[in-house]
Amino acid sequence: MQLIDKSALITGAAGGIGRAIAERYAREGARVAVADLDLAAAEATVETIRRGGGQAMALAMDVTDEAAVNAGVERMVAEWGSLDIAIANAGIQHIEPVHTLSFADWRKVMAVHLDGAFLVTSAALRQMYRQHSGCMIYMGSVHSKLASPLKAPYVAAKHGLVGLCRTVAKEGAAHGVRSNLICPGFVRTPLVDRQIPEQAKALGISEEAVIRDVMLKDTIDGEFTTLEDIAEVALHLAAFPTAALTGQSMVVSHGWYMQ
Ligand code: NAD
Repeated sequence: MQLIDKSALITGAAGGIGRAIAERYAREGARVAVADLDLAAAEATVETIRRGGGQAMALAMDVTDEAAVNAGVERMVAEWGSLDIAIANAGIQHIEPVHTLSFADWRKVMAVHLDGAFLVTSAALRQMYRQHSGCMIYMGSVHSKLASPLKAPYVAAKHGLVGLCRTVAKEGAAHGVRSNLICPGFVRTPLVDRQIPEQAKALGISEEAVIRDVMLKDTIDGEFTTLEDIAEVALHLAAFPTAALTGQSMVVSHGWYMQ
């Protein structure tokens, strides 16, 4: 077990990628705070972890709400005494061309990804600097590296996370904190399942064509990245023993984007 005695906060961990990482971390011995807008689903994740012998708590947290983020971090630190790994994972998507996109929809996507990552970073670093150790992980995307049509705020926000991650790597170094970004290709989660029909409609093609000719077109093998792939990389980043691995973007995408 690679994360014994570590406490991890994962936002958006009630489902999808965050939940897969939470379950993997718990199997590796970590105590996991499952933070999400959807408290009932977060509690269900916690229940699954506990049934498997792991330790977890559910936190009701909207990552765009400063008081909720701070209260969640304070609660887990009060209970477990440390915050060793924080993953800013919560995210949403919005499919629409830039010229019809409303300012409200732009701000909503930016807020969850960028304001959310900032608030989680700020609350986590206060504790990590006190401990003089910690590991920040941001959930970027292949869209941290390249653009696709219909996803302007998502692409802009995911590029922005690269800058935040690198800044935290520079500032955190003196305090024993590493910071890295995971950049997944398409993973079958509700976030992706929702956008398949939306993209089919916007592009005037079938759902099968969206998967084959849009989502997986540039992969080396036409395969989706899996939840397990991302959980494995998240474990590797958290367990890495030295400051050699910091400020990096790990692209996990079946070769869709090669850097
Ligand atoms: P998902 O929709 O399955 O899960 C997202 C979770 O975030 C949900 O549980 C949701 O309730 C929660 N959430 C949404 N807004 C929130 C908020 N304001 N505060 C707290 N929680 C909130 O999505 P996913 O595919 O698991 O995505 C997780 C992360 O991975 C996102 O940042 C996403 O951009 C990124 N990502 C996903 C893919 C993919 O193909 N699925 C690819 C690259 C990057």
